[in-house]
This record gives sequence, structure tokens and C-alpha cells, in this order.
Amino acid sequence: MGSVVVCGGGVVGLAAAMMLARDGHEVTVLEADADRAPAAPAEAWEDWRRAGITQFRQPHNLFSRVREVCDGELPGMTGRLLDAGCVWVDPLATRPPALADWQPSPDDERFRFVTGRRPVVEAVFAAAAEATPGVTVRRGVRTAALRTGPAALDGVPHVTGVRTDDGAELTADLVVDATGRRSRSADWLSAAGARPPAPESQDSGFAYYTRYYTGPERPQRRAPGLTPMGSISVLTLDGDNDTWSVTLFGRTRDAPIKALRGSVAFERVMAACPRHAHWLDGRPITDVLVMAGVVDRYRSPVVDGTPVVTGLLTVGDAWACTNPSAGRGISLGMVHAQVLRRAVAAHLDRPAELAASFAAATEAEVEPFYRGQLAADRVRLAEMAAAGGDGPPVELRSPVVALLGAGMTDQVAFRAFVELLTCLATPQDVLSRPEVVAALDRHDGSPPPSAPGPDRARLLELLAT
Ligand SMILES: Cc1cc2nc3c(=O)[nH]c(=O)nc-3n(C[C@H](O)[C@H](O)[C@H](O)COP(=O)(O)OP(=O)(O)OC[C@H]3O[C@@H](n4cnc5c(N)ncnc54)[C@H](O)[C@@H]3O)c2cc1C
Repeated sequence: MGSVVVCGGGVVGLAAAMMLARDGHEVTVLEADADRAPAAPAEAWEDWRRAGITQFRQPHNLFSRVREVCDGELPGMTGRLLDAGCVWVDPLATRPPALADWQPSPDDERFRFVTGRRPVVEAVFAAAAEATPGVTVRRGVRTAALRTGPAALDGVPHVTGVRTDDGAELTADLVVDATGRRSRSADWLSAAGARPPAPESQDSGFAYYTRYYTGPERPQRRAPGLTPMGSISVLTLDGDNDTWSVTLFGRTRDAPIKALRGSVAFERVMAACPRHAHWLDGRPITDVLVMAGVVDRYRSPVVDGTPVVTGLLTVGDAWACTNPSAGRGISLGMVHAQVLRRAVAAHLDRPAELAASFAAATEAEVEPFYRGQLAADRVRLAEMAAAGGDGPPVELRSPVVALLGAGMTDQVAFRAFVELLTCLATPQDVLSRPEVVAALDRHDGSPPPSAPGPDRARLLELLAT
């Protein structure tokens, strides 16, 4: 068994630490933010300061894949989330009305997931990590640099620990970078003499406007959680402890929608969406929270077929992050932590093999979701631009769009789409199944009908009033 330092104590860093400790490793988590989570997770919404995570109070959803990974790797976590007031959601329950002869399948249980507001979820993970033998969480400790030792691979620096910002040094058999979307590991690597990881980076181009509400009853779903509506999209998410969030988002470049930052315009637009207006039937617990400038970023740990470093593996947002409209970051981070656990179990004592096998498994099991999301976002941005009169019409033709269209009337296609949405399977897996191919063959490829809501002219009126 070995010693592991995990830099970053967000949900993914904590999950990775717990998984590695369950295999007998001694794991130290270094978290830059000093504040501990409140003892009662539900209080984290009000009381937990987390400057290190800018999206801490932005809307978050935990899909089925989070539950699947937790139940397999971190037994008891789903129960802890429920004890903290998180809630069950069944994505199959909001199936299209045309699927009237719905036949339940014994496998449907795996689609259900448990979700809650991000601070509450993270407080649950923090409490579980504190209670896990073999995990030590040190808060208020920022990783500043990497320590290196004799190379395990010719010409490639080998990391043997970290230096913190107060000058302390920690040695470890493995360092994990889980410092999130603002990771400084490229600087750390260049200071250690490594080639920089091959980076890709671009502003996703979306701006999000969110308000949280509370009330005695969670709103019933009359539309999917994420509903495209011309130049904007509507996102409605269930929260813990009788809370929920409502988000409207559009293109950052769409100047008129900036009016959504005012609560009156925000609620006026929501009220004009017939299947979503009832999500306003509660007491607001926040103003409209705004987030823009969210960067899509990917850092390949392998350049020209060779790992840029050994002894350091990167997980979660520090490896790749996209705009959050599909709400999958934590799901993918959990899959990534699972991939890490497997690679470490097989190769910890052979750093070059560990780096190569982790990179290969990441590429096979996590990267397809990242690539799929980028492609979907580009299409959605173009579609929003066209609906806003700022771009040419977009013909929505892709296998995933066709699957969604087919799912309006076909159970196999609907289940397959939900599987994809909730990250239970990659697009490649889903689209290659014979029964899904057959369902797509029966469909003409057209997208689903648009949801009712204000057209562009009406939207502009609502925003301007
Ligand atoms: C607006 C928005 C909405 C989102 N909605 C969803 C959603 O609905 N569902 C979903 O699954 N995902 C969502 N995401 C994505 C999700 O927030 C991330 O995928 C997730 O937080 C990644 O977890 P992480 O542990 O990798 O990184 P983070 O959560 O960012 O944690 C990184 C941690 O590292 C610490 N740190 C940073 N630098 C250092 C250092 N040098 N030393 C020590 N510690 C350091 C930070 O303080 C932080 O605690 C959303 C993201 C955004 C921007």
C-alpha cells in the first residue's frame, strides 16, 4: 500500500481520496480553503464559505451515474445524502405523453438518482471523508509546487510529493491533482521541467441566470429538466430540504438577455413558459445568481504518445471541464475517480505504466462524454444564435438529436437517451446497440417538437418591459 497526496478537496478530490483509502492507501487531502463544512450538511448552504469553487452556489444536479459509482465504490454515500435532505429523482417519470403504453423494466431502478444543492452534497462528502480510516483532510493548505525525484521514464520528470505555500514539503508515492477548473498544474509542471500538457481551451459562450426557491412541495415536472426554447434554455433542478432552482441561460453575446439578472424580468420570462411557470410557486431564497465566462478546458496528460509526467495524475475538472448546461461535471469526476482507483490498484509501484494506463482508461471511459458535450454545445449555441436573429438557420441532424426525437414515441429510444443524459453509458455505447439502431431506423431523424414558450419577439418584449 502507498501514500497519496490529493491536491483539492472538492467532491471529486474527496471521492478519490475515500476510494483510494478503501484500498488501504494512506491519503492526505490538501484543500486551499480553510473553512470546514458545518456539522449539519443542510447548514452548508448558508454557512460554508468556499472561495475556491466559484460555482459553489450555482445549480447542481447529481445524475444516475453518481449514484451508480457511489453505490459501487463508496457504499453508504447515497444514504448519507438522503439523511442530509437530498431527494430522489426518477428521470423516467417525465417521459413524453405519447409513450402511453410504457412497459416498466426491472432495470429501470438504476435510472433513479439522489440530488441536492452543491454545498449540501459537498458537506456530505466532506463528513464521509473525515470518517474514512486512512483519509486525512487538511484545510487551509494550498499546494504551491511539485517535488521531483529520479525519473521512472527517460526524460520525463517524476513527482515524489508537493510543496505547500507555507514551504512545507510532503512526500508521496502518488500525487493527484483535483484542484478543479482553475488548476495551476501546468505551471507546476513547467517549473518541474515537464512538457506542458496539450491544452485546449475556449469560453463556452453561455451565460446562466439562476434563482433558488423553497416551498412545502417540490414542483411537479411537466417538461424535461433541460428544455431548449429558441434563444434561451430553461433548466429546473430539484434540491435538498424543500428547495429547487430555476435557471434561464443563453448566449453570453446575446445582449438583451442580460436583463434576466433582474428578478422581475427573470420571473416574467419564466411565467411565460407554460410547462415551467409553476416552478415559481415558492419563496425565493436568493436573488438571481449570474455566471458567465465558463471555460471549456481539456489538458491531455500524454503528448506525442508519452506521458508528460509520472507520479502525478489529474482528475475531475482539473483534467477537463465544459460548460455546465448538461450538469455532468460531478458524474464524470466520479467516473474518473473510479478509473483512478482501478489504475492505482493495478500499477502504483510502476509509475510509467500507471501514467499510461490511467491516460488510456481516461480516454476510453471519460473523454467521450467531454467530446460529446463540446459538440452538443456548439450546435446549441448556433441554434440559439439563429433563433436570436444572429446566425444562419441550423439543421438539427445528429444521431443524438435523432435519438431524442425517436424517444418521443419509442420506449427503447427514450430509455437510451436517458441513459446517455445521465451518463450511464457513452454515446458510442448507446448508439451502437442493435435495438437502438433499429429504433433510429424506424424514425425519420427529426428532432423533438419544441417546448411551448415565448418566441424571440415575445421574449424581447418581456425583457424590455
Ligand atoms: C455554473 C456551474 C454549474 C454546474 N452545475 C453542475 C451540475 O448541475 N452537475 C454537475 O455534476 N456538475 C456541475 N458543474 C460542474 C461541477 O461544479 C464540477 O464538475 C465539479 O465541481 C468538479 O469537482 P472537482 O472536485 O474536480 O473540482 P472543484 O469542485 O472545483 O474543487 C477543486 C478544489 O480544489 C481546491 N484547490 C484549488 N487549488 C488548490 C491548490 N493549489 N491547493 C489545494 N487546493 C486547491 C479548491 O479550493 C476546491 O475546493 C457546474 C459547474 C458550473 C461552473
